[in-house]
Amino acid sequence: MAETKSYVYEKKTVYEKAGQKIVEAAYAYADGYKTFLDAAKTEREAVAECIRMAEEAGYRPYSFGNAMKAGDKLYYNNRGKNIFLFRIGSEPINCGIRITAAHLDSPRLDLKQVPLYEENGMCFLKTHYYGGVRKYQWLAMPLALHGVVIKQDGTTVNITVGEDEKDPVMYITDLLPHLASGQAGKTIKEAFPAERLNIIVGSKPLDGEEKESVKLGVLDYLYNTYGITEEDLLSAELCIVPAARARDVGFDRSMICAYGHDDRVCAYPSITALIDAEDTKHTSMCLLVDKEETGSDGVTGMQSSLITDIIAEIAKALDGNVAAVRANSKCLSSDVTATFDPNFADVYEHRNSSLLGCGVSMCKYTGSGGKGGTSDASAELVGWVRRCFNEAGVVYHLENFGM
Ligand code: MN
Repeated sequence: MAETKSYVYEKKTVYEKAGQKIVEAAYAYADGYKTFLDAAKTEREAVAECIRMAEEAGYRPYSFGNAMKAGDKLYYNNRGKNIFLFRIGSEPINCGIRITAAHLDSPRLDLKQVPLYEENGMCFLKTHYYGGVRKYQWLAMPLALHGVVIKQDGTTVNITVGEDEKDPVMYITDLLPHLASGQAGKTIKEAFPAERLNIIVGSKPLDGEEKESVKLGVLDYLYNTYGITEEDLLSAELCIVPAARARDVGFDRSMICAYGHDDRVCAYPSITALIDAEDTKHTSMCLLVDKEETGSDGVTGMQSSLITDIIAEIAKALDGNVAAVRANSKCLSSDVTATFDPNFADVYEHRNSSLLGCGVSMCKYTGSGGKGGTSDASAELVGWVRRCFNEAGVVYHLENFGM
């Protein structure tokens, strides 16, 4: 029996494969992950948290044109929403850079630029959803406001409301069941239109005012608390996210319920891997980007030319050849995958699904239909990663994204 077994590939859980000591270390590591989730609900907060972690580990800000040498630990902060961290290795730079990439933005509701309005004595904020939002999940639950307002004088006001237990929360109303029979007959898309995702922020009129007195009350509060006017909201990035903190799930505390796993679950391991790695030979980079949820465009997204510029700067500073560095580099692009869920078994193909507890899930290719739009990693690269994982005792498995 034992001999036959080695011919057969079986997905095994961390609990079966790794042993008690490693399982305990993984749970301890997850405590740091939960702290990161709570500290970094937006890409801006995530970049700030990454800088804090990196500086603590000896990383220093990099400016274009700076000299570099083996052993240097550097980071480049792109507009506070995208960060490149890299460590220069001892081997020639033409051997390439080992890169991990993940994203820091998550689905949420952004405030529109003219968000405040009053209707029937209630004051609301208009939102524009960002990324792949399941709209019905945002109703009737405590929400928080996170973001920045750039005032007329150029100063920045940071705002976080709803995370402290003493804070008020943001809220989107839903129908009570006996008024919802019309809603119940609709498709999800028709029943929860995006234009109804309005945040209620006030119902108390400002003393002595007659017209739009509730809205004026809210503006009065914003001015007295943050020194901002309605016009200042034109140059603001204010995001609505769930107000809850990361919590353990299950009697055995083996899972985590939190906002923003996608993609902090990859961003946190990427940055901690770089910071903790003892490898001094290879030049390594951790690249954490914004705008994945909306197609990776924009100056802080993955399609920005900054990645190629930074690689070119590294090559130049270390007397390398840019084309050689790019050709010889390897990148693990990491993002969340969907774990097989028996409650929705019909949307998975069990044999090629990622399974709960079976460790890191590796996806050779993505794409839809006939692999449309895929970046199909070569068998050689997957083989190399597999050897690295097996030699280091990493519990991992492979999955096909989607069906
Ligand atoms: Mn993602």
